[in-house]
Amino acid sequence: MIMPRLFRNGLSLRLTGRFALVVVGIYVFAASLYSVQFLNRVEQGAGVAREQQIPLILSQNRNALKIERAASLIRSVYLAHDRRVERQIQLQLQTLTQSFTLDDNQLLIDGGRNIAADVKVITAQREAVRSLRSDTSGPADNGKIEQAEVAAAEAYQRAIRTTEALGDNLSNDAVKLADDLASTIERAARDVRFGWLFILILPAVFLVLVLWVVSRHILRPISVAVSRLEAREDTVARPVFEELRTVTDAVEAYSALSLDLKRTNEMLLVLSDQDGLTGLLNRRAFEQKLDNAFNRAMAARSDLCVLMIDLDHFKSINDTYGHEAGDACLREVARTSSSFFERHGLVVGRYGGEEFCGFVEGLDTDSTSGVAAVLRKAIEMLSVDVGSGKKIRLTASIGVSCLEGREVERAGVLLKEADAALYQAKHTGRNRVVVRAERDVFVFGATGNSLV
Ligand code: GH3
Ligand code: MG
Ligand code: MG
Repeated sequence: MIMPRLFRNGLSLRLTGRFALVVVGIYVFAASLYSVQFLNRVEQGAGVAREQQIPLILSQNRNALKIERAASLIRSVYLAHDRRVERQIQLQLQTLTQSFTLDDNQLLIDGGRNIAADVKVITAQREAVRSLRSDTSGPADNGKIEQAEVAAAEAYQRAIRTTEALGDNLSNDAVKLADDLASTIERAARDVRFGWLFILILPAVFLVLVLWVVSRHILRPISVAVSRLEAREDTVARPVFEELRTVTDAVEAYSALSLDLKRTNEMLLVLSDQDGLTGLLNRRAFEQKLDNAFNRAMAARSDLCVLMIDLDHFKSINDTYGHEAGDACLREVARTSSSFFERHGLVVGRYGGEEFCGFVEGLDTDSTSGVAAVLRKAIEMLSVDVGSGKKIRLTASIGVSCLEGREVERAGVLLKEADAALYQAKHTGRNRVVVRAERDVFVFGATGNSLV
């Protein structure tokens, strides 16, 4: 039942974690067992070296010393020329060569016997020489003496050669033993090396695997879910672990919801600032922007001018051509006046009905009046197509009021003054620009500019 459960909704993080734990447990058990075994093997190798090879090497060493001693005794017996001394040395050599029988080495035993026999020959020949020389019964038999000396010399050479052969044989055995010992140590070192490589490499591979799973199947889904939450457009495969799927699904659902909400809010914000018919700023948004501009102008002691724009006899356009045609005219006037933002920095809004408003920052009264005059002219030049081949022409009256360094309490004052100037423009014949009342009212009319 575990397998279907494991894959129904992706892998279970909990079950996978348990599985990894079991794997680690089995590995630790196997590694401990293996460690004990190979350490035992290494220990056994050391035991063999200590109990067999090292005693053998020590005994070889002892025998080498004995052979050296034997050679020195052979030389002494040969050079002694004294019965008592020869007898003593011969006894010492006998004891020495008998001790060779303690080792299980036939070559050594035979060599010892040969040495003893040769030494016996040397002492016997020397004894013969002495008795020939001490014989006073007649002249010394030099021939026999020489014969005995030669026999003694030959026995001496043989004995020395035997010691040399035994010495060579012993050193060959010592080399072989040292080689065996080195091989035992080498085998142990190899066991340790392979053992530890095996024990260390597996956890390293396992660790890399675990890190890969954590990074690919745990951290990545989380980071992608977070990216999505931050509204990035990444696309990813679904996480393998079911618990993470639940988390990322929830995060994604929340992310989508919050994204929708954000877009709706942005749209609402735009709509709440916009006039539905003309797309210009509505009255509330315009007044907000005007307030900000007013604060900036007061802080920087720079100029700020407000315009009120009202279409002339608009009611009669509606009455004559219909409301739709009136709407088309409003849209055209809005399009024309908003194009003044790029060229003259004029910010425009729809104040209500067929009334528009605007402001310019940083321009003085004369320059702003000039801009207003150009706008009035542009409206006058419009020819609005209202279908069926009909085209409408229209005009607008504009009132202007500027800050001009005065201490004005709020932006609404400028709006009021511009409205009053507009009122004056209407009453002095329409289709003209009038600057606020406290100044000399300067009219920019259709028939030329004049002071009234
Ligand atoms: P004046 O030159 O004195 O300003 O005369 P006027 O006719 O323009 O002024 P009045 O205030 O008498 O009329 C304004 C008209 O604007 C009345 C109304 O029907 C029209 N109007 C207001 N809002 C809209 C609109 O959204 N669409 C259309 N088509 N007409 C509108
Ligand atoms: Mg009007
Ligand atoms: Mg009006």
